[in-house]
Amino acid sequence: MVHPTFRLTSLLILCCSLLGCDSATKPDQVFQGKTMGTVWRVTVGGLTQEQAKQLPELIQHQLDQDDQELSTWKKDSWLSRFNQNPSLSPQPVSDNVAAIISSAMNVGRATEGAMDITVGPLVNLWGFGPNALPTHTPTDQQIVTAREKIGLAHLTLSETANGNFLRKDIPDLYVDLSTVGEGFAADHLARLMEQQGVRNYLVSVGGALISRGQHQAGHSWRVAVQKPTDKLNQAQVVVDLQGHGISTSGDYRNYYELDGKRISHIIDPNSGRPINHHLVSATVIATTALEADAWDTGLMVLGTDKAKALALRHHLAVYLITKQGDNFVGWASPTFKTFIVDDSDR
Ligand code: ADP
Ligand code: MG
Repeated sequence: MVHPTFRLTSLLILCCSLLGCDSATKPDQVFQGKTMGTVWRVTVGGLTQEQAKQLPELIQHQLDQDDQELSTWKKDSWLSRFNQNPSLSPQPVSDNVAAIISSAMNVGRATEGAMDITVGPLVNLWGFGPNALPTHTPTDQQIVTAREKIGLAHLTLSETANGNFLRKDIPDLYVDLSTVGEGFAADHLARLMEQQGVRNYLVSVGGALISRGQHQAGHSWRVAVQKPTDKLNQAQVVVDLQGHGISTSGDYRNYYELDGKRISHIIDPNSGRPINHHLVSATVIATTALEADAWDTGLMVLGTDKAKALALRHHLAVYLITKQGDNFVGWASPTFKTFIVDDSDR
């Protein structure tokens, strides 16, 4: 969630100029700021002056609180304290933490461990955690040692009438919620909008986004998956979210070179190594941004063929971009196609 550099999102919010909006209509208001090593943006219409004055502070406050609970980059966050605590007894957790962990573990099991929030020791070994980047490729022995500390089977969440509890059964377990933090925070902002009586909004945190209602020009919110090029703002496919969440995972921006090789920040828990295949990005539309954010990482780990099979088996709304030679090839699952509003390959 907190990365060393501020990442650009792979999703584009289509603005009035692309949709052709009525110039007489009062434009939506856009608020934005920084959180969790990325950018948040909230687009809303029809606010009272009082709401417009208060909203940015409420948003930032909530995001800062989420970060203080879930970040592995902050040594004093709730999650860092859980990770540092060698105790094997159940630890009480907030509803927030229980919700994010429960959702992440469900998707983790459905991807047979391709998405695994206990992958932290490997993430740190490959230099994508709070540790410095490695100067040499980790040895096989280091990878084997790190792999012994991972696995969803070592983590148990109990949601009981007396509260929620999280327990690990090995002292070194390290939970990393980076890959689902943006989706969780986006859903949480959507709940904030509802509490504030805002009925038309589109909120995004990094690569995760969720919307409800319409923008001021009377159209539903439309979002584009960007083409995987360094040129910004080129749409590969455009969707109407219909109140859903969407998230993209792609490894064409967050990587570094080590011993002459391109190292992705997404690690395959099975091999213990960064992914190395031709799937360039995975976009998922789901009921919540959190679910979408969890699935997109799992699909990225699995690669094109297995990701397609899983998308079909679970009726997921998935869009994959795969590199074939010098070309990028898009694939939409049948469920994803129901959201597409403009598929002209611009
Ligand atoms: P992307 O937007 O490309 O999906 P995210 O920031 O959502 O990237 O997730 C990448 C982060 O997730 C990594 O920096 C690491 O902390 C963590 N991570 C890497 N591999 C996995 C995995 N297989 N399962 C869960 N989390 C992972
Ligand atoms: Mg993700």
